[in-house]
Amino acid sequence: MSAGAPPGAWARWQLAVHEIGSDGPLCLALTNTRHWRRASAPVEHLHTFADLVQFARVEGVADADEAAALARTAEGDGPAAQAELGATLQLREALFSLFAAQARSAELPHEDAAILTRCFDAAVGALAFEPRAGRLLHVPRAVPGQLDVVRLQCAVSAVALLCGTHARNVKECADDRGCGRLFVDLTRNRSRRYCLSAECGNRARQTKYRERHKSLTRPSGSPSAHAGRRKG
Ligand SMILES: [Zn+2]
Repeated sequence: MSAGAPPGAWARWQLAVHEIGSDGPLCLALTNTRHWRRASAPVEHLHTFADLVQFARVEGVADADEAAALARTAEGDGPAAQAELGATLQLREALFSLFAAQARSAELPHEDAAILTRCFDAAVGALAFEPRAGRLLHVPRAVPGQLDVVRLQCAVSAVALLCGTHARNVKECADDRGCGRLFVDLTRNRSRRYCLSAECGNRARQTKYRERHKSLTRPSGSPSAHAGRRKG
């Protein structure tokens, strides 16, 4: 059995789930809804279930009608919506731990894998297969407006990423202020270090430029000027 093969009676299978038609993995969009998570004052973007509906809309999990149905369901059962928001945030934090560990080639935490497993299990249970135009397609068993749609799809996305070929390309932003955003590095030489070139990457470039400029404008006798030249 190879190192990556599942144990025992399931050794003949390799799980293949692919996420298609998106700008990036849905699971990382979810983890990134908590920004500056390694800084002293993290920025939370999911305060209410309405925020989760908005996330579903922006990330293409729900179209306008589905988002409206989701909002109606939440309005009709506030406690259930609040519980689902809590469950989604629990999955989000588990996914962050899993991917952050993956990014630094550390052992993946078992308790977080168990949380993902429970959500993925529910996601599989939410799907049925139907013949359509000569093919077997996966379709939702339930009508639109199910509160758990974001959490379950994020679980599928996480399984697709963690079990797929891009698992080793997941990185955490190198910004030293504690950005904590995760991304998939698709550059040819795997050299990407920052979440967004317009944000942390731009700041890093400006910092580097200032340091270089400072070192070049210092008096030539200054010891730090020599240090700066070596760096640049
Ligand atoms: Zn960043």
